[in-house]
Amino acid sequence: MRSKVLLTPLYLFFLSSGFAQTTSSFDLTKYIRTISISDLKTHLEIVASDEMEGRDTGTEGQKKAGVYLINTYKNNGISFPKGATDFYQKVPSAFMKGLPDSENIWAFIEGTEKPEEIVVVSAHYDHIGIIDGEIYNGTDDDGSGTVALLEIAQAFQEAKNDGHGPKRSVLFLHVTGEEHGLYGSSYYTENPLFPLENTISDVNIDMIGRRDEFHLKSNNYIYLIGSNFLSTDLHNVCEDVNKKYINIKLDYKYNSRKDPNRFYYRSDHYNFAKHNIPSVFLFNGVHDDYHQASDEVDKIEFDALQKRTQLAFVIAWELENRKNRPVVDKSEK
Ligand SMILES: [Zn+2]
Repeated sequence: MRSKVLLTPLYLFFLSSGFAQTTSSFDLTKYIRTISISDLKTHLEIVASDEMEGRDTGTEGQKKAGVYLINTYKNNGISFPKGATDFYQKVPSAFMKGLPDSENIWAFIEGTEKPEEIVVVSAHYDHIGIIDGEIYNGTDDDGSGTVALLEIAQAFQEAKNDGHGPKRSVLFLHVTGEEHGLYGSSYYTENPLFPLENTISDVNIDMIGRRDEFHLKSNNYIYLIGSNFLSTDLHNVCEDVNKKYINIKLDYKYNSRKDPNRFYYRSDHYNFAKHNIPSVFLFNGVHDDYHQASDEVDKIEFDALQKRTQLAFVIAWELENRKNRPVVDKSEK
């Protein structure tokens, strides 16, 4: 977060001519369960370690974190997108008002039926680096979203390995330069690898491992922002899959363009939404450690991180596999 400035289960009936009848059904929960606390923890302890030096845009520490992401994709058998030559989209210094050259990182799972239609799942992997000798590890912001993408990608790939690849394609986009001005997502949407007309949604994750002051009694919630701004379909997908698979409280407190915090404008989904791409932002709200050196892994609530990651997965899954892409029935104005 930048500072203020289903598929219906598919039943296959095999009716034999005789007495035997076999029913086999596709079970999405098998893949939802691959999103585990232990994997999230393993990844987050590395991505948000001191070794990554707070992942400031263009620094060696950020590049090291990027290499870890790429190696994780490779280990899971996931490659970079068709049409790219590697896992990097270089974002030049000149685009970022003189910040050092940096990279978005992308990974890709190709759709089986409508490969030209793309769902983007995004999270920024940069943070604010080292200030006065202190490392700001940005564990919630946005280490949490970064590792969520790794787990969502793994879930999709395991489904694909079992013959249940998504019908549309999915682009996992780890954007850079967010804390300095949403640069990575801005660069991508101005230089998209796939036409924006065929980019049917962005599911953006920025800070999903903690709770805020309004939820002291339970971490079983997530703020959704923007889900109904452009597309009633997208909003309904979020509601429906949550009810069906996850059952977390969807909190719409900040779901307004007039929200004085302006959260809708402060993370990367906005760069997709401004191009009229239906976008939803998953966010846990702010806390005392927001943009402090104390945003550390021991404060992460992994049960909440797991559930919210699973929610993002089932939203993306439904968008990938439902018959029609979400209709844009409202405008960004
Ligand atoms: Zn931030």
